[in-house]
Amino acid sequence: MKNSEIEFSLSQIHNPSFSLDNFESKLQSLKEVYVDENKQEEAKQIWIYQTIIKIHKLFIDAFKLLQNKKYYEGWCQLENIEITFASLKKHFLFDKHQFKLWHIEKSVKNLQVIFPYKLFASSELLKKKKECSVCGKVISIRNSCGHVVGEIYNGEMCHRVVTDIEILGISLVQNPENKFAVMFMTDKDTGEQIDQYNYQTVDYLFQHIKDPYEFWDLEVNQKVISGGDFKGVNRNDPCICGSLKKFKKCCGLNIGKKYPHYEFIVPNPSAEKIFTRTIKKD
Ligand SMILES: [Zn+2]
Ligand SMILES: [Zn+2]
Repeated sequence: MKNSEIEFSLSQIHNPSFSLDNFESKLQSLKEVYVDENKQEEAKQIWIYQTIIKIHKLFIDAFKLLQNKKYYEGWCQLENIEITFASLKKHFLFDKHQFKLWHIEKSVKNLQVIFPYKLFASSELLKKKKECSVCGKVISIRNSCGHVVGEIYNGEMCHRVVTDIEILGISLVQNPENKFAVMFMTDKDTGEQIDQYNYQTVDYLFQHIKDPYEFWDLEVNQKVISGGDFKGVNRNDPCICGSLKKFKKCCGLNIGKKYPHYEFIVPNPSAEKIFTRTIKKD
């Protein structure tokens, strides 16, 4: 297979009939041939194509998880996509129309915006022992093996494998290095984890898009809450955000305040407006 043929096939990647697994295994065999012949540039190019396929697989998976209300699992796949994009971009610059990558990148960013997770645990780690993924040598400040992290050797990306770690401390941050460590509450009586977050906005989106490659977009702006936003709601009614409090003691207090307003651009929009909060109740 020539690169031009591979790229032509990859341009059909969003087609439901495209088999990601089949194509991926063809590429893997081809890469093994290149590695045997020590064709480093060719093997690296295959790594790029494989990484594009990996991003699509993660994206389809994230989409299914979120559709099925597996929010935290879906969230982790979004983070995996972001990390995979960062490695891809070191070696491959794509334009708006190539391999639907732009669609995926934008969808991931927008989904992260509408998620209710805002605070993360960030751990300060002491990496006591690390090894090079290419040659297996133990790395220290004085002892480097010459392989560069993020570079491609024999068609694989070089990274450090941490084999011994000490946690020095954990802090709460808004912009962590990675976003896997979402804070969940624990039930005082049973010790079980509770998901206290409100996913109404995510659900709203997934009522309107059914296919991972369907076009949608998001506009975020600040709006001032006015009394007119709550027409027909009486001060003593249960609040419309689902907090179980009276309206006057909940969202009613926010009249006159600014809040982020999300406007979805979807193929079949409905006029429905929702008021939501990040935590179900407090
Ligand atoms: Zn090395
Ligand atoms: Zn409320």
